[in-house]
Amino acid sequence: MSVVRSFLIAIRALGDFAEKMALTTPQQTATPIDRYSLPDAAGHFGQYGGMYVPETLMTPLFELTKAYEKAQADPKFREELAFMLKQYAGRPTELYFAERLTEHCGGAKIYLKREDGLHTGAHKINNCIGQAILAKRMGKKRIIAETGAGQHGVATAAVCAKFGFECVVYMGAVDMERQALNVFRMRLMGAEVRGVEAGQRTLKDAVNEAMRDWVTNCRDTHYILGSALGSHPYPMMVRDFHKVIGEEAKRQILEAEGRLPDEMIACVGGGSNCIGLFFEFLEDVDVRLVGVEAGGHGIEQGQHAARFEGGKVGVLQGSKTFILQNSDGQIELTHSVSAGLDYAAIGPEHAFYHDRKRIEYAYATDDDVMKAFQVLSRIEGIIPALESTHALAYALKRAPQMDKDQILVVNLSGRGDKDVQQAMKLLGVE
Ligand SMILES: *Cc1c(COP(=O)(O)O)cnc(C)c1O
Repeated sequence: MSVVRSFLIAIRALGDFAEKMALTTPQQTATPIDRYSLPDAAGHFGQYGGMYVPETLMTPLFELTKAYEKAQADPKFREELAFMLKQYAGRPTELYFAERLTEHCGGAKIYLKREDGLHTGAHKINNCIGQAILAKRMGKKRIIAETGAGQHGVATAAVCAKFGFECVVYMGAVDMERQALNVFRMRLMGAEVRGVEAGQRTLKDAVNEAMRDWVTNCRDTHYILGSALGSHPYPMMVRDFHKVIGEEAKRQILEAEGRLPDEMIACVGGGSNCIGLFFEFLEDVDVRLVGVEAGGHGIEQGQHAARFEGGKVGVLQGSKTFILQNSDGQIELTHSVSAGLDYAAIGPEHAFYHDRKRIEYAYATDDDVMKAFQVLSRIEGIIPALESTHALAYALKRAPQMDKDQILVVNLSGRGDKDVQQAMKLLGVE
């Protein structure tokens, strides 16, 4: 009996040890990753991704893929993109050494990649500018988009005003109520915001409606999808438009520290700001990469949006990936304090790097997020978007475990102005 018990205790101790190891040592990949080999021509990242759409959408998707490949090879396209990212969006963004936050944590040096400094308040404008230039080259006159919290809708409305496109943004009726200010912003910039009354009346339903519109109007309409999600070529294209984040960060950290960071952290909704920061570092296997999902009220069915905590492989809105679904394949309800992370599927490229263990995934709960939201505001005078605060909440726990000569880079994907009203309610401020 006692032999069995001590054996069990030994096993448990080994388990604990393994868990600690997973938290403190970089995971090496079995085989080197050639990031430019993905996806394949049909949009596959290993078993993930692809083009799971109705036949009527195959034609516009092929047209888009071809136009995108042609544009990528055209120096004029790249020039216009670089010009717009600089003059309109405000790139490059700073890589900011958060000295007071570093002292507060008492461990690794913390740098923040300041995507919150961009025009319209988040990284999303990178992708919108890229797709708008592409739509112009394709001769499209009309742009449609989906939006959840309204950040992607605002960025889309801005580029449509700038380029003179007609703009329709689909938004769940529930989200329209929650984000009335962003609805007004979009309308002010000339967009038509169409409320969606189907289903849960949130993001997933808005995506369905946008796809329906695109099927009918694809001749003169381009669909600007807002994350590294959906059918090929979107996950690849959206990633490419955001990889400038990591390219800048690499240059900047080498300039500041003369070496690469030990660890990088980004929040993961669909996955665009995260892959945008990480892509340039995928082959640098000594740099640990951690994506942080929404832990919501905790990892219980319907209470969170952490796809790698209980999600299963399936197909949703054009792509094969990890999805929160029940045993019948019905999409589960999700919850997060931040609307931008509140989605049942994750971008297919993340599913691939998850399996390869090149990117590790963690989660932060709403409570952790509301604490970190106040910490950054108080200590650095920077109010972060609640989405980005998930990465920050993880960093606040992680930095003290690291040595003082180690370096941590956190993606501050957006600013928190849009969230202050909600924060007032959550923090019980009158
Ligand atoms: C939309 C949004 C996100 C989540 O989207 P990803 O595609 O996962 O990056 C994260 N941060 C901010 C500030 C956002 O607006």
